Amino acid sequence: MKPAAFGYLAPGTVDEAVAALAGAGGRASVLAGGQSLILEMHYRRSRPGLVVDINGVRGLDRLWVDGGALHAGALVRHRVFESPQVAPGPLGRLLSLVVVNIAHPPIRALGTMAGSVAWAHPAAEWCAVAVALDAGVELRGPGGTRVVGAGDYFHGHHRTARLPEEMITAVRLPLLGDATGVAFAEHRRTHASFAQIAVVVTLAVLDGVIAEARVGLANAADRPVRAHAAERSLVGSSPRDDRLFDRAGRLAAERDADPLARPYADVEYQRQVIAVLVGRALRQAYADHGGARR
Ligand SMILES: Cc1cc2nc3c(=O)[nH]c(=O)nc-3n(C[C@H](O)[C@H](O)[C@H](O)COP(=O)(O)OP(=O)(O)OC[C@H]3O[C@@H](n4cnc5c(N)ncnc54)[C@H](O)[C@@H]3O)c2cc1C
Repeated sequence: MKPAAFGYLAPGTVDEAVAALAGAGGRASVLAGGQSLILEMHYRRSRPGLVVDINGVRGLDRLWVDGGALHAGALVRHRVFESPQVAPGPLGRLLSLVVVNIAHPPIRALGTMAGSVAWAHPAAEWCAVAVALDAGVELRGPGGTRVVGAGDYFHGHHRTARLPEEMITAVRLPLLGDATGVAFAEHRRTHASFAQIAVVVTLAVLDGVIAEARVGLANAADRPVRAHAAERSLVGSSPRDDRLFDRAGRLAAERDADPLARPYADVEYQRQVIAVLVGRALRQAYADHGGARR
């Protein structure tokens, strides 16, 4: 199919882009990598009256560290995160583990982290990273800039706190301390499929005790999920007790997740996958931290 007719604008600045969004009465869509939007327009599931192509806006491809966070501008493409050097310490390692699970190289060359966060698909790996790390989503509207924490940003399947006249200018990912182990685990039907379930874990261990655990789940509900019950069960315990990780996996599956039945996976099956993947990712994060050697 071909897209429905639409207007096209290629602004040179963020202010021009925001003015165009504000003037379109909710009928404009930002075009970043186009790896979701163009497809949706072709299927006519998306019919924007105006496409605001931000690819010519200077400065949006910047990636920088400031105030304890990595700031990824709205045009930073997925593939940039393939190098663990993209961010200092464990954060760079985590992002490089995650990104190779997103689609395949041509899509990673064009698609953007901010576009993924804007699109807010529950199965998107970056959205699970955002909730796990409590990333800040930087939104620019006609009244200025506001930053919304990922915990408040995702409202449901493709639903977020972003207003139609706002665009994401950057995603802010907090840096992780050196004593943090990181891991990512994903289950999908084929190599090219979206995640059936994906799990992002960070584990900070100090003096033999888990000081902080962060667990993010993709496709385990109608939005990305932070597994708070699983995290609480870990903090203050010794990671040498291996049963801890399986218990956290079960809590994530039973208390934190709210999976929807799918043609290839009923709810019971998905809870089983979540429990297994969370336990596995926690063990991997502990090993990444240095495990019993520290
Ligand atoms: C075959 C295929 C496989 C894929 N597999 C995966 C996968 O495994 N995991 C995964 O996470 N993704 C996957 N994707 C999606 C891909 O990651 C997209 O790149 C991503 O979802 C959107 O990023 P984009 O930059 O291409 O955004 P676009 O397609 O340009 O935009 C997507 C949506 O976000 C809005 N938007 C984009 N940027 C902004 C902004 N700065 N401010 C406000 N709104 C904005 C657009 O208006 C649109 O509604 C796949 C895509 C394809 C085609």
